[in-house]
Amino acid sequence: MIRLAIQKSGRLSEDSLNLIRECGISFLSSSYKLKTEATNFPLEILFLRDDDIPGYVQDGVADLGIVGQNVLVEAGFPDLEVEKLGFSKCRLSLAILRSEGYNSVADLQGKNIATSYPQILGRYLAGEGVQANLHTISGSVEIAPSIGLADAICDIVSSGSTLLGNGLREVETVFRSEAVLIANQQLTAEKQQLLEQLQFRMQSVRRARR
Ligand code: ATP
Ligand code: ZN
Repeated sequence: MIRLAIQKSGRLSEDSLNLIRECGISFLSSSYKLKTEATNFPLEILFLRDDDIPGYVQDGVADLGIVGQNVLVEAGFPDLEVEKLGFSKCRLSLAILRSEGYNSVADLQGKNIATSYPQILGRYLAGEGVQANLHTISGSVEIAPSIGLADAICDIVSSGSTLLGNGLREVETVFRSEAVLIANQQLTAEKQQLLEQLQFRMQSVRRARR
């Protein structure tokens, strides 16, 4: 039996469940439950908050997980990735007030930047030789500039309409992300074999979709 952690409810949930089903794995899903067992594959599915998934897989509480690369890299466990899944594509971008001028990332030197991704942003800015004050906030990052809490933000952008609604414009892409399958690095031989079977099926599903 192998244990897979997926997001309980959010942007990854439906595509994660669909992928498992398209792999030919059947299970009873109830939105109240914390876990469920597949009926035709030795798989147990745990439903968790996405932020908790990398740590649980690193520690072996779950053997496998499906999570966004943004959350995985921010958690500090990029090496757990075993397979790109092609859904939940998004990007982390820097944005500033539309009323502000902007030439290059050097303009952010010494500025206050609000983000939920201090690790990823810190590494990006260091690579650009820019020193800024990062303020870690967990939600509603995009309102920070308009209420005077920060000069800029770094957050997930998909459509751009949220930015527009808060008087912001995107100025740099910091990180590109998609959903990935992750695995504990000390799987038993038996679990390793189940992982390989799952990867094989996931690759077939992706090929069939193209
Ligand atoms: P949880 O309650 O599990 O902590 P959350 O609010 O942190 O959920 P969601 O908003 O459901 O997270 O997003 C989960 C993941 O989906 C993100 O970490 C990112 O990888 C991806 N994602 C976020 N926004 C988008 C988007 N607009 N388009 C595509 N993928 C996205
Ligand atoms: Zn989350």
